[in-house]
Amino acid sequence: MTETDIAVIGAGPAGLAFARELAGSGLSVTLVERSPKAALADPAFDGREIALTHRSQAILAELDAWSRISPEEMSPLRQARVQDGASPFVLDFAPESGDAPLGQLVPNHLIRRALYEAVQAAGCATLMTGTKVTAVETSPKGGTLTLADGGQIRARLVVAADTRFSQARRQMGIAASMRDFGKSMLVARVAHEKPHGGIATEWFGHGQTVALLPLRGDVSSIVLTLPARQIEALMAASPEAFAADATRRTEERWGMMTLLGTRHAYPLVATYARRFVGTRFALIGDAAVGMHPVTAHGFNFGLAGAHRLAGEIRASLMRGRDVADPGALLRYEMAHRAATFPLFTATNAIAALYTDDRAPARLLRSAVLRAGAALSPVRRLVTAQLMQKVA
Ligand SMILES: Cc1cc2nc3c(=O)[nH]c(=O)nc-3n(C[C@H](O)[C@H](O)[C@H](O)COP(=O)(O)OP(=O)(O)OC[C@H]3O[C@@H](n4cnc5c(N)ncnc54)[C@H](O)[C@@H]3O)c2cc1C
Repeated sequence: MTETDIAVIGAGPAGLAFARELAGSGLSVTLVERSPKAALADPAFDGREIALTHRSQAILAELDAWSRISPEEMSPLRQARVQDGASPFVLDFAPESGDAPLGQLVPNHLIRRALYEAVQAAGCATLMTGTKVTAVETSPKGGTLTLADGGQIRARLVVAADTRFSQARRQMGIAASMRDFGKSMLVARVAHEKPHGGIATEWFGHGQTVALLPLRGDVSSIVLTLPARQIEALMAASPEAFAADATRRTEERWGMMTLLGTRHAYPLVATYARRFVGTRFALIGDAAVGMHPVTAHGFNFGLAGAHRLAGEIRASLMRGRDVADPGALLRYEMAHRAATFPLFTATNAIAALYTDDRAPARLLRSAVLRAGAALSPVRRLVTAQLMQKVA
């Protein structure tokens, strides 16, 4: 039996960030991850290019992770543009003033590697890799994790960061709202003939949503949202056939496209836990809030949540309270819910509206886009959210 102050299930980016947040707190932290150590130390490219807000960049810098990502691997996001089919109305998001970009696009696997290195450098957690948590139980006295190899971990607080389909959440009897959009998302890097100008473009054509995220050079990440069967066909197509299809879907606006590297597909399911905390238990990352990627906020929220929970735990320790003080856990839940629920709900509404090709929805989104284009406060709100600097 291993004894620890805090046991974290899942060493994804949220679990790693949370462990690093507690460096220097004097608490013993044990991270349990089902993937092998090599997959954490040198994660493979997974197709996700994460749009990091200014606030997330500041948190990653505090966690000693930001400087571990080469600036050459970051791509500034200067402007974002939303367009509905062939409609001339365009919704543009750009900084109100100055040269600072809206955010930085950073490959997910490099964020994960940087956080892993930061945790190792700080020596702030014991990592148990290649072993899955199969059962979680907590009581007012403590929590117990059972591992697939039969081992057990006893902790004063259990934190689950084990994906949006969290098994720990289920075992703790915490319900979650789930919204299956019935579509999948394919992401891949493509080179193209014409420059993107640092502008992310998203547009809604008949039966498809296409987004192009600008990377360094004449390279973008193409994001296709389609029914699962079409995504499967595109995953199986030859690189040449895929590139030809991407060129056709983007109407040659960026010229001919060439596929660079691997393609990755993700099911589109958004989840939101009904509670984020229980007795000696807390949910963070996607296990708490699993966002639809269209507004690029999943990991930004995950990072902010890890920061919030660690802040509450540190404050409890300062007051001489328990590491799993119920009041502190509740304050985390309330603050994280207030920070995430409005955008979670708005994102689902946007995603549903923009992936529905029935005539009423087409008319409505055209109207929404016209209203958005006319109303500068709408643009200002979204831009302010991206540019937010305060941690
Ligand atoms: C296509 C796409 C684009 C995205 N773009 C953006 C973006 O632009 N901006 C943004 O902020 N977010 C974005 N996101 C969201 C972001 O990727 C996620 O929010 C983030 O990866 C969640 O991190 P996490 O650590 O909570 O979960 P995960 O990354 O899912 O990690 C969970 C970890 O837990 C481990 N685990 C699970 N179960 C167990 C178990 N029983 N025992 C031990 N280990 C376990 C897993 O192996 C995994 O390592 C995007 C997501 C997708 C799919």
